[in-house]
Amino acid sequence: MTAKTLLKVSGLKVSYGGIQAVKGVDFEVREGELVSLIGSNGAGKTTTMKAITGGLVANDGDIQYLDKSIKGQGAWDLVKQGLVMVPEGRGVFTRMTITENLQMGAFIRSDKAGILEDIDKMFALFPRLKERRDQLAGTMSGGEQQMLAMARALMCQPKVLLLDEPSMGLSPIMVDKIFEVVRDVSAQGVTIVLVEQNASRALAIASRGYVMESGLITMTGLGKDLLVDPKVRAAYLGE
Ligand code: ATP
Repeated sequence: MTAKTLLKVSGLKVSYGGIQAVKGVDFEVREGELVSLIGSNGAGKTTTMKAITGGLVANDGDIQYLDKSIKGQGAWDLVKQGLVMVPEGRGVFTRMTITENLQMGAFIRSDKAGILEDIDKMFALFPRLKERRDQLAGTMSGGEQQMLAMARALMCQPKVLLLDEPSMGLSPIMVDKIFEVVRDVSAQGVTIVLVEQNASRALAIASRGYVMESGLITMTGLGKDLLVDPKVRAAYLGE
């Protein structure tokens, strides 16, 4: 049986002034999937993610989430419905501790016991954050801040978690760690959309993938098939 479609984007177009960055994008994400969106700099991946999560207004097309159009809805309303994005550059609250950041992540919830339980779950998933629970987020390394941003997003109990370039700017060891954590979070049943320039790593952990070029989806397939596709290898894997 095919899993339920949680997110379906059709004919999405987004412009910045006169420049069309996204030119008619179609893709869908089913329950439990880890879908990777790869493509070179400026392909329109971030613009697509922002349009889905209410950070930018689409000019055309539709976005269906849980079988309803969410086009035009703001980020706040979408987070409350479980559609949560961790943006490029992370955006943790630098002057708050790790624990406070996690509490902020649960701002849409009122179940105090559940929140405490979930903070413990985050500490089990990210032992590094537990060790540093009382440290100010701004004093942590880039990789640690990325983990915190992901943990904070998970505190909203997302149905679909969108991650924009989580490995960007990190050391090779941290990149390994981040991909491991993304895979673990996915294995726990969270549906994930992963936007990445690190195409080989992103496709290796993906159930399915999409390739984006100049504002359009140009290829799609199973992660493992795209990983060995000669065109993908030539364009994105340096071969
Ligand atoms: P990257 O991996 O470099 O972030 P991307 O695939 O996410 O690339 P986008 O950031 O979505 O690409 O950018 C798509 C196009 O839109 C690019 O040509 C970019 O220069 C342009 N663009 C992005 N943000 C703006 C903006 N705020 N104003 C004008 N043009 C923008």
